[in-house]
Amino acid sequence: PLILGIESSCDETGVALVRGNELLFDAVASSMDEHSRFGGIIPEIASRAHLESMVPTLQRALSEADVDLSDVDAVAVTAGPGLVGPLTIGASAAKALSLAINKPLYGVNHVVGHAAVDKLVHGDFPQRFMALVVSGGHSSLLLVDDIATAVNELGSTLDDAAGEAFDKVGRLLDLPYPGGPHIDRLAREGNRDAIRFPRALTSKKDQEKHMYDFSFSGLKTSVARWVETRQDQGLDIPLNDVAASFAYAVADVLTAKTIAACELHGVDTLVVGGGFSANSQLRDLAAQRCAEHGITLRIPPIRYCTDNGAMIAALGSSLVAAGVEPSNYDIPVDSSMPLTVTHV
Ligand code: ATP
Ligand code: MG
Ligand code: FE
Repeated sequence: PLILGIESSCDETGVALVRGNELLFDAVASSMDEHSRFGGIIPEIASRAHLESMVPTLQRALSEADVDLSDVDAVAVTAGPGLVGPLTIGASAAKALSLAINKPLYGVNHVVGHAAVDKLVHGDFPQRFMALVVSGGHSSLLLVDDIATAVNELGSTLDDAAGEAFDKVGRLLDLPYPGGPHIDRLAREGNRDAIRFPRALTSKKDQEKHMYDFSFSGLKTSVARWVETRQDQGLDIPLNDVAASFAYAVADVLTAKTIAACELHGVDTLVVGGGFSANSQLRDLAAQRCAEHGITLRIPPIRYCTDNGAMIAALGSSLVAAGVEPSNYDIPVDSSMPLTVTHV
């Protein structure tokens, strides 16, 4: 079956066509340029941009994939989590489209989509696998028995997401928004052992209650304090070393907890997804530690890690393959859709 996927949870308008594990075409338009001067996503601006680019992006995907709307067998759309206004634009488009071509509609979970997209790159998932989804809004560890129907959340961040922490540290270092990719670039030139920043929720006591949870807000504060102290002393800020030490602290905790979860659950495949999985410090450390522990690491190329329609079409195609019932036309969008809910 040919699945059309529509994504609009944040600032990217994504439309893609997927058949089984094959991606035919993935068209993305972003409104990030309009938000960067505000230092954050402005929901109304994002909604308007989705409204303007939805149909052109759809037309581009169809023409590049060389398919006709009448060839589409099902429409999958992000139902949450995300920003309500932007989600509503995509959901409205998908409902109208599904009705017009008389093909089933699937409202799907964006964050689960960040893991599902990897099947388009590395093929079918194994029976059971671990997924670490790290993005601007989420940092969660998922034990997946079936990407379409059985996703279990082992833990998540108690405060900031990994990408969010990078963006906040980027702000305090006066880097352009979003700061994540800038810190990544600086960190590659720095010494990760220069400053020992804290690793939250890794003590024996914290592990009892929060074995698979993360917390990055204290880390961000300790970077801020370190920088302030240096400034008070009239000293330069070694940006590369601060970035490298901070990025290493984040990657260290993410990979250590994820590998411990794989070992405890006897899982030998790890899928990493979400916009933050573009981060090279995380990629390098995950590759090294997975190799040491005999875990097969699957991380899609960066263009599949950020928001796109392919991830939504990929999850839609798994739902269709699993014989899941389509969504009703009255489904709402849900800004805080739980990660255990793969579809609505
Ligand atoms: P969610 O998927 O939780 O709704 P989102 O859609 O905003 O959140 P994505 O678009 O998946 O998130 O990811 C964007 C985040 O990834 C931003 O915080 C950005 O700074 C971060 N990011 C992107 N590239 C890198 C990088 N190379 N290093 C660090 N962070 C990065
Ligand atoms: Mg984005
Ligand atoms: Fe995302």
